[in-house]
Amino acid sequence: MITTDSRDPSHYTSLAPFQTLFNLGLPILTYHKLGPRPRNARLKGLYVSEKLFGQQLAELRAAGFTTIPLPPNGDERPTQHRRITLTFDDGYQNVFRYALEPLASNGFRAIQYLVAARLGLTNDWDVRIGEASEALMDETEVREWLAAGHEIGSHTLTHPHLTQVSAQQARTEIQDSKKHLEDTFGVLVRHFCYPYGDWNPAIRDMVMEAGYASASTTLHGVNTIDTSPFELRRITARYPSRNWQLIWRGLRSLFQRQRQ
Ligand SMILES: [Zn+2]
Repeated sequence: MITTDSRDPSHYTSLAPFQTLFNLGLPILTYHKLGPRPRNARLKGLYVSEKLFGQQLAELRAAGFTTIPLPPNGDERPTQHRRITLTFDDGYQNVFRYALEPLASNGFRAIQYLVAARLGLTNDWDVRIGEASEALMDETEVREWLAAGHEIGSHTLTHPHLTQVSAQQARTEIQDSKKHLEDTFGVLVRHFCYPYGDWNPAIRDMVMEAGYASASTTLHGVNTIDTSPFELRRITARYPSRNWQLIWRGLRSLFQRQRQ
């Protein structure tokens, strides 16, 4: 999926600092909701303010990061370049409202994982368990998102826990969401994201069989040549900003070590 370094690794095997370099992989950031947080929001950390989001993107750009599409994408060499992938889960309208301008002004591209049977509706899977209702992007907004140069992926049809429904239902959620999005928007949908990060080997195999090229999890970490493209690690960019500062310090120290 991702190559690490074309130089002869035998030069470095005995040098502990380079282990980090070889282990260093592609960071994928996860966002959910942008903008003002409603008072009745339960998972407050899934909202990132418009201002903080803008700051995060500006910091990434100032540090020389560029965004790249999801792997597997051939000969990417994250150890030599400051590359990052930006992902949004669920397809919130507030992302459409607040993300397009800062993404464009920083020259960044992102992927939005859509709940295919809920376009233009709300996050009913969350509302059922007491979460605040949020509008989801409708077809027109998704078309604008695509026209702005961003990607879409599938986050199933209805956002179920895939390991808790029947195998037949899981397969339908995985396969039909891809087809529905491709038929509606006329683009190839190559990437999948497990709702709730809920998957097991049988679910992962269904995603592979459905013709996807990758699947994002909620496992924390960066992605290396050893990471299965169907078990992609991600880093959640949360509010408040101190969490971001921790993430940012972590990324910066990895890249500083790389330069030594
Ligand atoms: Zn989700």
